Amino acid sequence: MTASNGIVIVGGGLAAARTAEQLRRAEYAGRVTIVSDEVHLPYDRPPLSKEVLRKEVDDVALKPREWYDENDITLRLGAAATALDTAARTVTLADGSVLGYDELVIATGLVPRRIPALPDLDGIRVLRTFDESMALREHASAAQRAVVIGAGFIGCEVAASLRSLGVDVVLVEPQPTPLASVLGERIGGLVARLHRAEGVDVRLGVGVAEVRGEGRVDTVVLTDGTELAADLVVVGIGSHPATGWLEGSGIEVDNGVLCDEAGRTSAPNVWALGDVASWRDATGHQARVEHWSNVADQTRVVVPAMLGQDTSSAVVVPYFWSDQYDVKIQCLGEPEATDTVHLVEDDGRKFLAYYERDGVLVGVVGGGMPGKVMKVRAKIAAGAPISDVLG
Ligand SMILES: Cc1cc2nc3c(=O)[nH]c(=O)nc-3n(C[C@H](O)[C@H](O)[C@H](O)COP(=O)(O)OP(=O)(O)OC[C@H]3O[C@@H](n4cnc5c(N)ncnc54)[C@H](O)[C@@H]3O)c2cc1C
Repeated sequence: MTASNGIVIVGGGLAAARTAEQLRRAEYAGRVTIVSDEVHLPYDRPPLSKEVLRKEVDDVALKPREWYDENDITLRLGAAATALDTAARTVTLADGSVLGYDELVIATGLVPRRIPALPDLDGIRVLRTFDESMALREHASAAQRAVVIGAGFIGCEVAASLRSLGVDVVLVEPQPTPLASVLGERIGGLVARLHRAEGVDVRLGVGVAEVRGEGRVDTVVLTDGTELAADLVVVGIGSHPATGWLEGSGIEVDNGVLCDEAGRTSAPNVWALGDVASWRDATGHQARVEHWSNVADQTRVVVPAMLGQDTSSAVVVPYFWSDQYDVKIQCLGEPEATDTVHLVEDDGRKFLAYYERDGVLVGVVGGGMPGKVMKVRAKIAAGAPISDVLG
């Protein structure tokens, strides 16, 4: 293999586009190829459950096509990678073509979980891609009653967007509150309150036993026996890493592609980042993060590491947001459901909470409080005592 194969990025989302961009910024002059199984230019996913679904936005491309031409980045769209040979340094695509690489970047993101027991009926949908968002919005414009299964971020956002389209929504969640495993039950309870105030029928502590219909979905049966009429069902029960194509490659996978703290996988010259990657953190734990800002944080590390340049040692404070109605929920730091939660502001809709672990401020979560959330970034980065923010 000659050095002329350049860098091949498998995946056509945010991580792929940002990696390509960062490579050119770092003055990498070799070939850069993005291989995506989607036919669209790399695009942004957060609007799919928000503005796209609400019919406010149609174009979510991260960069126009000319940008790829101007930066000499080759796009292989509609071309799924099906196999990786790390000894030969080649990737095989679904059409049988074989690409050599000097360095390979795995950025294949996630595949939504489905409920295997559900029948194959029209009207049961998941949301991960642009096409799925457009299809869901088309369906929603004729729908009257939707059941959203799962009150994680995507389920909550879909519920909010469907309400703004005038659809009646039942949100079903087996845990005691929405987002309980991420933000804990106290803040999850505030999120349930927000949805109820907007007319969503929030059913907690109950699952889905059965979905019925003839050709099209018409009834959802809950585990407590309740029967709900529905002409649309959205399954938002999480996703798993898109690593099927790596089977047999020898790349170590355990809930994501296992990487060191710079994105190196178990094979030489192969890197991974974004939703698919499980990076080792500063404490030696493997962690996979499914949030937008994480991609930029990882790109700033993986690209210099790949090019043998110095990597930044700046402390990264993880961040994510979720838009539900007019309330932007923001999370800074690494709060966990088991932390002590100090709810310091709550006006019945908007709120601010600090998360404490062993006396230390580890995170802040705000609903509709952008300035106040961002204000504590430095304190979280410094590992400040919780007393610093509690007046
Ligand atoms: C509906 C939705 C809303 C979101 N909202 C928010 C939000 O509000 N805030 C937030 O912080 N984060 C949000 N996120 C998460 C954020 O979008 C992701 O963290 C981000 O997209 C991760 O980028 P990625 O490139 O790693 O993965 P992706 O964006 O999933 O890109 C992976 C790409 O790889 C392609 N691919 C997969 N397998 C193959 C293969 N074998 N060969 C070739 N290509 C392949 C996929 O089709 C896809 O195009 C949201 C995600 C979704 C789905």
